[in-house]
Amino acid sequence: MKIAIRDDDTCYFTAPSELERVYADVWDRVPVCLATVPFAVGYPRAGIPESEWHSGRRFPLEQNAALVAWLRQRIAEKRVTIALHGYTHEDYPDGFEFQAAPDLEQRVAEGRAYLERVLNTTIRVFVPPHNALSKRGLDAVSRAGLNVLGSFLSFRPSNRTWDGRTFSNWRRIQQFRRATARTRSDRLVYPHPLRYVRHAEFGCHGLIPTTTVEELAAGLDEARRFGGDFCLATHYWEVDDRLKSVLRRFLEYASSIAGVRFVTAEELFAADDPRSTRATG
Ligand SMILES: [Zn+2]
Repeated sequence: MKIAIRDDDTCYFTAPSELERVYADVWDRVPVCLATVPFAVGYPRAGIPESEWHSGRRFPLEQNAALVAWLRQRIAEKRVTIALHGYTHEDYPDGFEFQAAPDLEQRVAEGRAYLERVLNTTIRVFVPPHNALSKRGLDAVSRAGLNVLGSFLSFRPSNRTWDGRTFSNWRRIQQFRRATARTRSDRLVYPHPLRYVRHAEFGCHGLIPTTTVEELAAGLDEARRFGGDFCLATHYWEVDDRLKSVLRRFLEYASSIAGVRFVTAEELFAADDPRSTRATG
């Protein structure tokens, strides 16, 4: 069983010390996928100066030279990998960035090329800001051939452009719902990558202020019961002492399970693992 960690919102406003605080005792054992914003626009949240909450200014990642040097070092050490997390991560009156922004294909192409150049790495995964992706947003990401790491993305065929795998993937989800006695409105995290023609999608379990270690352990147990894998998703700026303790206890629990391997988020999509294509249940 593969287990990975994803952390969102690394951007110009991030100090290396904030990431060190959460992950210095984690990434030697578990590499962390930092979902990174290439040209962040400020918005109201902890860690972004209030003067930038509504300024609309774009801050290229490389203007934070200390962060860029630090990230390059951590990438070289294989402690972190980088995913593309939107382009500006800005919200629009009628939706989040990858629901409402114009020029989504350009944002994917430019954002990816920018991060690859500035951080001297390869980007293979896209994490939608706020986990929100319209049909148009998904098309843009899929055309770029990037895999999607999300949470609670819609599986409904009406919310996506159909390809040769859409229907069979939708049926796999229905089978999983039945096998886990969920109704149509119950949320689920499907524990295998769903492979479409140009990209694959994998859902994450959130670590947010209300999450308990029992919930995460139950999610891990369910994924294991179905021969699947597990990805934990959080935001470093939200991880206080309590959440850090939940993270630590979850990793202890996961480590105690025979056959668990901690991997990069990118490896969740690897096709060479026979378990990743096994049918559900
Ligand atoms: Zn985000």
